[in-house]
Amino acid sequence: MRPILAKAGEVASHSVSRHARLFVVLICAAIAVGHVWQSWSARTNDIDTAHVYSDNMAKALAQHAYDTFQAADGLLLDVSDRINTLGLGSPLIAEMAPMLHRLADEMPQLDGLLVYDELGNWVVNSAERLPEGANNSDRPYFIYHRDHTDPGPLLGPALLSRSTGHWIIPMSRRLNHRDGSFAGVVLATLDLDYFTGIYRTFNVGKNGTIGLLLRNGTLLTRQPFDAKYVNRDLSDGVVFRELLPASPNGYTVGPSRMDGVHRLLNYHSVDKYPLVVTVALSEDEALAGWRQEAIGYSIAVMLLLLMIAVFGWRLIGQIELRLRAEMKSIQAMNELREANRALEMLAHRDGLTGLANRRHFDEELTKEYRRASRVGSALSLVLVDVDFFKQYNDIYGHLAGDECLRRIGALLKEFERRPGDLAVRYGGEEMLMLLPGTDPAGAAIVAEKIRAGIQALGIAHSGNPVGVVTVSAGVNGIRSHQPRMPPVDELIGQADAALYQAKHGGRNQVRVAAPVRDAA
Ligand code: GH3
Ligand code: MG
Ligand code: MG
Repeated sequence: MRPILAKAGEVASHSVSRHARLFVVLICAAIAVGHVWQSWSARTNDIDTAHVYSDNMAKALAQHAYDTFQAADGLLLDVSDRINTLGLGSPLIAEMAPMLHRLADEMPQLDGLLVYDELGNWVVNSAERLPEGANNSDRPYFIYHRDHTDPGPLLGPALLSRSTGHWIIPMSRRLNHRDGSFAGVVLATLDLDYFTGIYRTFNVGKNGTIGLLLRNGTLLTRQPFDAKYVNRDLSDGVVFRELLPASPNGYTVGPSRMDGVHRLLNYHSVDKYPLVVTVALSEDEALAGWRQEAIGYSIAVMLLLLMIAVFGWRLIGQIELRLRAEMKSIQAMNELREANRALEMLAHRDGLTGLANRRHFDEELTKEYRRASRVGSALSLVLVDVDFFKQYNDIYGHLAGDECLRRIGALLKEFERRPGDLAVRYGGEEMLMLLPGTDPAGAAIVAEKIRAGIQALGIAHSGNPVGVVTVSAGVNGIRSHQPRMPPVDELIGQADAALYQAKHGGRNQVRVAAPVRDAA
C-alpha cells in the first residue's frame, strides 16, 4: 500500500477507537452523575422528612406548653380576683391556704402557688407550712411587678424554689390596692421536671434535643436535662437573632452552640406567651439510613463502572487489533497488486531501452492486424537498424553501444504520438515502430523523421562514413480499405526486405516496400 493510504487507514482506525473510548467514558460519566444526583435527592428527601417530623413535634409541644401555662395563668387570675375581693389585709386570706394546696395538687405542672404582700413577705402559699419570716422581695419578678403596672403575666427565668428546692419557672401577676398602687404579687411556679418528664417520652434519637425557651433567648429547660444549661442565654444564636423576628415558626441546620453537634432544628412559638419550643434532630442520625444505602449503592455503581471500563477497554483493544489486521491484509493485497503490475510491465518491456519488447509487439500487432482487417483501417511498420553497429561496439565498447541504443530508443519513443503507436526493441540493434491507422506513405514520412532525428543526435561514430550514428529503415504497411490484406508474416517480411534495400542502397536512408498488388 502507498504510505498515504496506509496513513489514512491508521487515522481511520485511530478515530474509531478514540470514539469508542470516548463513548465508554461518557457512559461511565453518565452513570456516575446519575448516581450522585439520585443520592443527593435521596439525602434531600430524608432531610425534608426529618424536618417534617421535628416540625410536627415542635408544634405539638408548643401547644402543650400553651395549655400548661394557660391553665396556670387561669389559676393566677382566679386567685388574684379572690384576693382583690377580700383585700390583701383580710385575715380570710390566710384561710385560702388549703384551697391553694388543693389547686396546686390537682395540676401536675404546678410546684406551688404563692402570694406576697407589697414588701415581699409571704402571705399565703400552697405548701403545708408558711416559713417564718420568709421574704421574696429580692426576686426579679417581685421587683418587676413592684416597678411596673402592667397586669399581664410575667414568665421568669428558671429559679431554684426556696420552698421546695426544685427548679421552677415562675409565672406571676401583680396585685393592686383599690387605688391601683402595688399590693403584692401572686406567683405560680411550674416544675421544670414536669416539662423534662414529658419531653423524655419523645423519641429524638441519641443526639436529638427538645428545648423550652423564653422568647428573649433564655433556655428554661432542655431534654436531655443538664442543670448547667438552665438559663443559658442563646439570644445571639441564629434562631433568636434572625429567624424568630421574621417568622414565629421555622427551621435551620447547623452546629449547636452548646455541644457543637450538627442538628436539623425546628422551632415553634407558643401562642400568647413569650415562649419558644425547639426540636432538633442530629443530622448524622437523620441521615444514617441514607448514608448506609448510599454507601451500598456507591459500591455497586463503582463495581459496575469498573466492569464497563475493563470490558469496554478490552473490547476496544480487540476491535483495534482486528482493524489493524484488516489494514495489514489490505496493505499486503495492494502490495501484491503493485508487484503484479510491475511484473507485467517487466514482461512487456525491454530492459535496456524501456521500449515494448518483442513479445508485447507480437500481441499488439495481432490485435491491430485484426482490427485493420475488420474495419479496413491502415496499418504500417517502420523497421529500423543501426548502421555499422558492430564497428561501433568494436570502437567504443559494448557499454557505449548500450548507451547509444538507449538514446535511439528514447528518440523512437517520441514518435508514439497517436493512441496505438508503439516503439519496439525488435531484437539486438533493430527497432521498430508499429503505427496503426497510418498508411505506408505516412509511415515513410515518420521513418524519414526518425532517420533524420537519429543523425541529428550527432552520436560520434568514426566507423560510419557519415561520422555520426545513423540508421536505415524499411517501411511496409496496409492502406485503408486495401482490397487484399497480406498475411502478418509478409507484412514484416516486406519491411525487412525494404530495410535490406536501404542497407544495400548505401545505408542512412528509408525504403518503402513495393505496394501489394491488388487482385484485378
Ligand atoms: P549493418 O550496417 O549492416 O547493420 O552493420 P552492422 O555492423 O550493424 O551489422 P549487424 O546488424 O549484423 O550487427 C549487429 C551488431 O549489433 C552485432 C552485435 O554486436 C550488436 N548488438 C546487438 N545487440 C546489442 C546490444 O544489446 N548491445 C550492444 N552494445 N551491441 C549489440
Ligand atoms: Mg542488424
Ligand atoms: Mg546494423
